[in-house]
Amino acid sequence: MGRDEIKESGVKSRESGLKRPEQVSIKEYSWIARIAAKKLKSSTVAIVIGNTIHLHNTTKSDFLLNERWVKHELCHIAQYKQYGTFNFIIMYLWETLKKGYYKNKFEEAARRAEIL
Ligand SMILES: [Zn+2]
Repeated sequence: MGRDEIKESGVKSRESGLKRPEQVSIKEYSWIARIAAKKLKSSTVAIVIGNTIHLHNTTKSDFLLNERWVKHELCHIAQYKQYGTFNFIIMYLWETLKKGYYKNKFEEAARRAEIL
């Protein structure tokens, strides 16, 4: 393994947030996700707060079957870890106010993580 390869794999595991997956928890029937679903006008929702993925209108097993969706939410968990829960929520909301949900840089990163 060359020096560059080592660097690469380090970046990959950091970005995917999979370094310590045992710390992730999933909450079904979440009221937080229900409110987010109303705001986003979406029927099924997963929303991350800290290390917890909150689900609305989907089950834990259905969610876990959707690899892209799981990777997307794990990226958000990595973002929380990187910035800290409080800072990340402020930064995320600020980005959304400035650019809207879709062009929010944290959402763009999470969409890129879906196909890693
Ligand atoms: Zn997202």
